[in-house]
Amino acid sequence: MQTFFMQALTQKSKPVSREPMSLMEKIYLPAVLKGMSITFSHMFKKKPTVRYPEETRPFSPVFRGLHVLNRDEEGRENCTACGLCAVACPAEAITMEAAERKEGEEHLYREEKYAARYEINMLRCIFCGLCEEACPKDAIYLSETFAPASFARKELVYAKNDLLIPNPKTEPEAFAKAKGLKPIK
Ligand code: SF4
Ligand code: SF4
Repeated sequence: MQTFFMQALTQKSKPVSREPMSLMEKIYLPAVLKGMSITFSHMFKKKPTVRYPEETRPFSPVFRGLHVLNRDEEGRENCTACGLCAVACPAEAITMEAAERKEGEEHLYREEKYAARYEINMLRCIFCGLCEEACPKDAIYLSETFAPASFARKELVYAKNDLLIPNPKTEPEAFAKAKGLKPIK
């Protein structure tokens, strides 16, 4: 049988020394005791384990979590379906359909045009935050909430109703939490 040796592409490999084991190494006991002493020393150190979800760590100021579609202080949807977020998205995760605001809908939509359908495919999203940066209407932002996992792919395509922030007029508590004005429990 012919043997092939792969040629290394870099010079990073180091030859392994195969020196015979000393007597101390052969009896293993010093190595076992050394390992146990390391384990024992950890018993007196501060535990780094965080008992999530009862305990949570503070988020980094640059943390980017679940997307939220924003409303203004009167509860009207900010999004005007301009499509800039979809264009900016490198993963092509955002789709939407625009509609014209009708008379009498001024309390629902801030602008004359709004997103009748707005979807984010979270299977594609890489949480880069470019959609938030591209939005001229402060309509989409990445919150400090984790995106939940799921076993079903179709559950990870979020529709507008999944993304819309609670209405500050009717659900002020939930709105404040989603805005990060109150701690998320
Ligand atoms: S965070 Fe990035 S990848 Fe995700 S929807 Fe926004 S622009 Fe697209
Ligand atoms: S979220 Fe912002 S950028 Fe995206 S369509 Fe709505 S207004 Fe335009």
